[in-house]
Amino acid sequence: MTLTESPTGIGVAFHSVTKRYGKMTAVDGITLDVKAGEFLTLLGPSGSGKTTLLMMLAGFQDVTSGDILVGGASISGTPPEKRNFGMVFQGYALFPHMSVKKNIAYPLEIRRKPAAEIERRVTEMLELVQLGGFAERFPHQLSGGQQQRVALARALSFAPRVLLLDEPLGALDRKLRADVQEQLKEIHQRLGTTFIYVTHDQEEALTMSDRIVIMNRGKAVQVGSPVELYERPATTFAASFLGKSNFIRKDGRTYALRPEKIDAAPAGTGTGEHRLTGTLRAITYMGATLKLMVDVPGHGAIEVHVPTWRNTGQFSESQAIDLCWSHDAQVEVEGGDGEEAGARPA
Ligand code: ADP
Ligand code: MG
Repeated sequence: MTLTESPTGIGVAFHSVTKRYGKMTAVDGITLDVKAGEFLTLLGPSGSGKTTLLMMLAGFQDVTSGDILVGGASISGTPPEKRNFGMVFQGYALFPHMSVKKNIAYPLEIRRKPAAEIERRVTEMLELVQLGGFAERFPHQLSGGQQQRVALARALSFAPRVLLLDEPLGALDRKLRADVQEQLKEIHQRLGTTFIYVTHDQEEALTMSDRIVIMNRGKAVQVGSPVELYERPATTFAASFLGKSNFIRKDGRTYALRPEKIDAAPAGTGTGEHRLTGTLRAITYMGATLKLMVDVPGHGAIEVHVPTWRNTGQFSESQAIDLCWSHDAQVEVEGGDGEEAGARPA
């Protein structure tokens, strides 16, 4: 399928953007360049300022200080309806009394596009989100995943150069979410539109994004590709919010160590550049991996994930075991942000 109008993404730049509500700082001096055509994800716990940042970009919230540039030009004086962003937000639902087709046509109608163009564009969008036969249905006749795809088609129908998505898949069950994630990625690759995506789901961020911004308390803690952030987290917060991490403290430094980068073996048999010996407190079967919680004197509990297929029957509780890892596996991190990401929102 060839799209009659293939928008090319445009870049977005945040310059020291701050948002205060009274004494409360929701967004705290964020400076960030989103590249044209990039899939950029804002990842952070609830209350970290993700939605507020997106709302300022969309124009629904004022910026307290700083500036936002789109395609190199400040948008501070541009009202929301003139910013021309596509939006898929929670609570930005489909119009229930309109058919799928009418929903998708709506942004084109308010822009007074000719009828023939609207017709053609709606057909293209329905194909893009794989809902070709659903034009005449109403939202209540669709599953949650189908409704989200219609919302996406509606947001893209007028060929925006930037698409803003705020936890668009939050209401979907796990399997459906994975399907729609795949489709979103394909659509992004096909269109070249700039996507700015908000989630608190680390797996979603890892699998979909070109780059991720880890947010905490209104600040951008670290920005990088999924591989960079997972392999080289800069802070204890980044290491524990994106994936799991143990923290090993020695020589006045803190090292992050992923559970799957540690090998476990009966005491006295482990080999590796680094080794600690401890007592196996608990084994949990997780399917593909076994989770071992090991008490190590001076280090507390260390979590280890070992492949199940290689380790069945090898471990038992209260056993003394060696934990080994390569020098490369441990990453020096700053504890400067004062906390490790503990419980995540469900
Ligand atoms: P996130 O989307 O990451 O969960 P939000 O951007 O919604 O975070 O919120 C960031 C912080 O700003 C939170 O502490 C929230 O309570 C606060 N906040 C958001 N909107 C308002 C508002 N309209 N008035 C006062 N405080 C707000
Ligand atoms: Mg939010």
